[in-house]
Amino acid sequence: MNPATGEQIAEVGFASAADVDRAVASAKAAAREWRATALSRRAEVLFRFRDLVAHHRQQLAEIISRENGKTMSDALGEVARGLENVEFSCGIPHLLKGGYSEQASRGVDVYQIRQPLGVVAGITPFNFPGMVPLWMLSNAIACGNTFVLKPSEKVPGASVYLAGLMKEAGLPDGVLNLVNGDKVAVDRILEHSDIKAVSFVGSTPVAKYIYETATRNGKRVQALGGAKNHMLVLPDADINMAADAAVSAGYGAAGERCMAISVVLAVGKVADPLIDAIRERIAKIKVGPGNDPTSEMGPLITREHRDRVASHLDKAAAEGATVTVDGRKQAAPNKDGFFLGPSLIDNAKPGMACYDTEIFGPVLSVVRVDTYAEALKLINENPYGNGTAIFTQNGGAARQFQFDAEVGMVGINVPIPVPVAYYSFGGWKSSLFGDLHMYGPEGVQFYTRGKVVTSRWPDPSASKVDLGFPQVR
Ligand code: NAD
Repeated sequence: MNPATGEQIAEVGFASAADVDRAVASAKAAAREWRATALSRRAEVLFRFRDLVAHHRQQLAEIISRENGKTMSDALGEVARGLENVEFSCGIPHLLKGGYSEQASRGVDVYQIRQPLGVVAGITPFNFPGMVPLWMLSNAIACGNTFVLKPSEKVPGASVYLAGLMKEAGLPDGVLNLVNGDKVAVDRILEHSDIKAVSFVGSTPVAKYIYETATRNGKRVQALGGAKNHMLVLPDADINMAADAAVSAGYGAAGERCMAISVVLAVGKVADPLIDAIRERIAKIKVGPGNDPTSEMGPLITREHRDRVASHLDKAAAEGATVTVDGRKQAAPNKDGFFLGPSLIDNAKPGMACYDTEIFGPVLSVVRVDTYAEALKLINENPYGNGTAIFTQNGGAARQFQFDAEVGMVGINVPIPVPVAYYSFGGWKSSLFGDLHMYGPEGVQFYTRGKVVTSRWPDPSASKVDLGFPQVR
């Protein structure tokens, strides 16, 4: 669907279990040769892919914007961040270097190598149709695996386009396999014995299901889930800077980012001026279709999701919070599109649905607290732990927050602290099931397994039988 118009724009076939089996068979058939392909040749394909994505970034962003609804500038930003992941994996010859210990014993050397897993799969969400597939497939393929990608059925276009660019870049057939579909396709991936690892990004209930099912079937899994990101604003913070950040991170991409700010924790006297400054900025946000260059915020992904998000405003009022800005009152740019204006809820508290739920829409809640300790307690008691941010001019307070926060990604005066591609991305608690974060160095670790070789090239004349346990001294 085009969420800005409510019209169907394309149709995609949903894979049956047998279709998934064909994709996995294709990946398996290509795995041996791809693994044996020289590192420099694998890197060469990725360099070419990187250039093709960069060259076609406008077309890719147009597909993303049309199917997801986000603005073109936001879609171009998504492509730019995805490109960073491809650029990281172009360095794969360096990234796969192992360790070597000469003379671990007399004439004995020990070294570690990292080898690909074989066939691996990725299952991706609707909100980053280009970037999240790139998080996964560039490292997986660079490491020498073959890949089965199952993108979100709501936004299949970007993955189809990326697969075409991979082919153009010279990736051999079978190394990347695209399977469109829904739970039927996912369930087959989770149980297929030829798939060795599954990377997932999506909502927490599905992430938990993927983790439990795939690990039960013997697979390595990293399953990234939902979020409820808190932004803590201390009384000494610059009000304008904090308000700019809260509005950008709360309403960008219509709040449909796993790193969006959903809750502002206003400490002490900062609350009133901060809320005034946020309201002023909300009034100026231009809501419209993603392909209008003047739009700052697009529609939500589906009509049902928009209605679910909007229902939180009534619930919040009924539960005793204050709906300070009601986005439903803003005229929709297209009545058939899935639009909802930005909303602000004041006096939110734990126990209210607006605080407890991952709303995943343009609704920002403010919780008023008296102290840093009270704010920190809320962050650490939250079941999610994806991202959080502190706004302050006090370096000591920021340093303490970085030490205290039980969250995987922390921003200091940075509202959306998505790590650059040479670090790894991932939350804690119910925001990630598994041990390794996604992309960057942990991505390389996830898509490879270590092997340690102990080697001796003795002089045959010195050989003798020795039944003792090998010792190095
Ligand atoms: P989703 O969980 O509904 O879907 C994600 C993928 O899982 C899709 O490919 C979908 O086809 C598949 N799927 C959906 N239901 C399934 C089921 N019952 N069984 C098997 N497979 C199923 O997520 P979404 O709505 O596409 O994406 C939004 C969610 O993703 C939000 O919760 C957001 O926070 C989260 N997200 C998290 C991150 C992160 O890095 N932690 C990044 C982006 C999005």
